[in-house]
Parts: sequence; C-alpha cells; structure tokens
Amino acid sequence: MRRSYLIPEFVVDIEHTNCRRCKRCVMNCSYEALSFENKVVPDNFKCVACHRCVVYCPEQVITVRKNPTDFKGSANWTDRHRLDIWKQAETGSILLTGMGNDLPYEIIFDHLVLDACQVTNPSIDPLREPMELRTYLGKKPDSLEFVETPDGKLKLKEKPPKNLKLEIPIVFAPMSYGAISLNSHKAMAMAAKEMGTVMHTGEGGLHEELYDYGQYTITQCASGRFGVHADYLKRGIAVDIKIGQGAKPGIGGHLPGEKVGLDISKTRMIPMGTDALSPAPHHDIYSIEDLRQLIFAIKEATGYKPVSVKIATVHNIAAIASGVVRAGADIVYLDGFRGGTGAAPRIVRDHVGIPLELALASVDDRLRQEGIRNHASLIAAGSIRSAADAIKAIALGADAVAIGTGALIAIGCRVCQTCHMGRCAWGIATQRPELTRRLDPEIAAERLINLLRAWSLEIKEVLGSLGLNAIESLRGSRERLRGIGLDSQTLDILAVKAAGK
Ligand code: SF4
Ligand code: SF4
Repeated sequence: MRRSYLIPEFVVDIEHTNCRRCKRCVMNCSYEALSFENKVVPDNFKCVACHRCVVYCPEQVITVRKNPTDFKGSANWTDRHRLDIWKQAETGSILLTGMGNDLPYEIIFDHLVLDACQVTNPSIDPLREPMELRTYLGKKPDSLEFVETPDGKLKLKEKPPKNLKLEIPIVFAPMSYGAISLNSHKAMAMAAKEMGTVMHTGEGGLHEELYDYGQYTITQCASGRFGVHADYLKRGIAVDIKIGQGAKPGIGGHLPGEKVGLDISKTRMIPMGTDALSPAPHHDIYSIEDLRQLIFAIKEATGYKPVSVKIATVHNIAAIASGVVRAGADIVYLDGFRGGTGAAPRIVRDHVGIPLELALASVDDRLRQEGIRNHASLIAAGSIRSAADAIKAIALGADAVAIGTGALIAIGCRVCQTCHMGRCAWGIATQRPELTRRLDPEIAAERLINLLRAWSLEIKEVLGSLGLNAIESLRGSRERLRGIGLDSQTLDILAVKAAGK
C-alpha cells in the first residue's frame, strides 16, 4: 500500500472510562472519522474539527485538538507549506477549500478605533432617546424639484428612484441554494422578514417554497444564469448582478453534480446530476456599456427595481466602482478578499484581491470626488465579524454591511473550511437529506434574529457614544476613526488620522 507522508491535522481524544457507548458521536460524524469496535475509535486523518461530536456527546468526554506533533521549526518552510506540498505530491491536484482567507494578513478593522463624545459635545443615551438604524439603499436624487398641482398642492416633479428600505444596516450575504441547504436559506429568509432586512439568493435561484419571502430577498443574476427567469427576478425586492466574489475574484463557480438533486435541478433549471459550472466572465459583458445594457434590461423586466452589482475588491477598485455606478447600478456590493465561499481553489482564496477596508475607503473617496456618491449605495462585505466591524465599515463609507460566514457561525458553522466536501455535519453546507434535516430552520432563524438584534443594540450604543442618533450620520465619517499601528500610506488611503492626532 502506498504510504502517505501526511500527518493528521487534528487528534480526537475520548475519555473511555466515562463514555456511555451510546454511539451518538459516531452517528453525528458525517466525515466518518469515528467508528465503534467495543469502544469509539477515531480515525484522526478524517477529522476536520467540525465539533459535532463534541457538542452532541452527552457525557462531554470528547476533545478535539490540533495535532501537537511538532515540525522542525522554520519561519520560511511553515508547517502549512510542508503539508500542502505533501498533499499535492500525493494527489497532483489544486487544493480546494471552503470559507474565507485564513492567512494572517493584517486585519485593518482591528487597527481602527472609534471616537466618543466628552465634555463639550454631548453623547446620547440610546435607552432614552430614539435611534435610527433605518437605511435606504439606492440612488438618491441630487436635488428635489416640486411642481404645483391644479389644486394648489406641491408634488415632486420627478418620481424618485426606487430604494431598498432596511430597518437595520445589515443584510445577509449571497450564498446560493446548492452551496448551502434549503433550511439555511429558509432560516435567513425568516430572520430577514422579522428584522426588516433582506437575504440574498446567491447564484442558485430561489426555491419555490421561499417565493413568499420575495419582499425580503435580493435575487441574483450571475454568469451561469442559474434559476434566472422573469418571475424569479420579479419576486425579489432588488436584483444583484454578480461580477465577482471576494473569495475567488476572476474565476467562476463549480457545484458538483452529486449536489444537484431534484430540487436544485428545478430551482437552477439544469439537469439533475450535472455539474453547475458558472463561467468566470458573463459572456455578454465585456465593457461598462455591456454591463449598462444588462442593468437596464433587468430594470425594465422588473418595473425599475434597484439593481446591485457585486464586485470583488481588486486593484483599481475605485475606477471599477465608478464605472459600475456610471453604468446605472443603484448599489455597489464590495466583497473583500476575506469573503467566504462554498468552494474555491485555496491559491486564489488566499492570494488574490485586496482588503475590504482599503477598497471601501478608496471607492467612497472616488465617488465623492466625482460627485456621484449619491448615485449609488455601497454594501461592504467580506468577513464582517462583529458589530464593531460593521460600524467601522460604515464610518469608512459603507451604507450597509453584509454578513455571510458570521450568519453561518450563528447557526452552527465551526469554520472547519470543508464546505466544498458537501458533508457539513451541521446541515448548512450540504444537500444530503440526512444532514440537512439536522438544521431546524425555526431554531436557526431565532439564532439569526438574536444575532441581528444584539448587533443592532451594540450599534445604537456606539452611535449614542458618538453623539449621533442616526446611522446615516456616521456614513463616511472617517473623522470619527483613528488608526493604531498602521503605516502612513495605509492611513492616507483610509483618510484616517493616527491615534493621538
Ligand atoms: S469530524 Fe467532527 S464529528 Fe467527526 S470526529 Fe472530527 S470533530 Fe468529531
Ligand atoms: S458550513 Fe459546515 S462545512 Fe462549512 S465551514 Fe461551516 S461547519 Fe464546516
């Protein structure tokens, strides 16, 4: 037998004396890392640290830890480099992964701190004063012109463009039905309705069971055009054209045929069991003019609903975003290089694109300089991990933020990064019926609602400490941010002063 040079990434320890041999852990392990031969036997090579066995063990006798075996130290040839080389020497394949970039690049959000009112400028107590988190996404008119009606009343000369009204400045990020389960989609739809925000279909269409949630849904039209038909586009409150994804800028998507069962085949409008390959580019978009044609075709097809364009943050993002706004987009969705994915080559996920914070600041600046900032709203996405990240993103120039991985973590995801394997033990990133039923959409929705409520309360607390009573007043207020430990060029791009100044 060919011998692998790899060592297991994790070690599963079971305290056999207190184990009641109920085999619950074995049944819960969808990676087949546990078996039973008089006692529970782990196969460490198969463990991905999904923690399902740990959480569901009634005696709490299971521990999963990183393999403590040390490699001879080298700051250059890290353990990761060596393990990757062995994997590729054994398979000859591209390394695939799920979730977002996990390399230790500097996280700029963690180097930004917020201001607070003291002495001369009063803060506001959110428990006593009303706080406005309502956000309108879409084009705003530069000025309002009124005309007098025959009965002497004033009315707007032109109808203002349709906007997307959100009660909170947080939306769910696009994650397709296919990449994640229908129960995950259902949970987000229910939570979006309860919280007055929107979920986002991603590129896999909208399951018919969720059509009633259309008013809380942004439908997506991506390069594969999966599930795109007139009724689908009309169901949503807005439509998103996906050009790029932060986790894999410049490349398309791949949903393997084994995940394409009857429901997904119907929703995506593709034959059962076939691979769903979305091409890297849209085959009808090679210029800003082409993009403009699609934006306006969608607007006409949907009665002029707001159209969003999702782009990955890459070099020259400010110029790209300017072109997208000039093409007629109502919303520009910026997906930073830490954004998640159901499946991507690790080399692209970890080494392509630029941080959201820098992209956001330069796009906001550019649109202001060109006098077109009010022509479109900005959604910032790509690893918004907390209310603090959300507030800082808004202070850097976003109108709203989108959460994907954060939402999945709320419903059980352990960020084990194996979504591409289709065996998600938590029933999230899988289509296997025995696994998808593990996720109760009602319970998951409640967890999402709690998360959004908690973040909304935190945002209000911070707004109060800043002396603001509306989230809109914070948008692009870089003056309320300071940088710690950031070099002068980064501070310059962010247009943020160093702390102490
Ligand atoms: S893969 Fe998950 S369920 Fe299986 S042994 Fe590892 S942590 Fe436990
Ligand atoms: S969605 Fe599931 S498979 Fe993907 S990282 Fe989370 S727990 Fe792991």
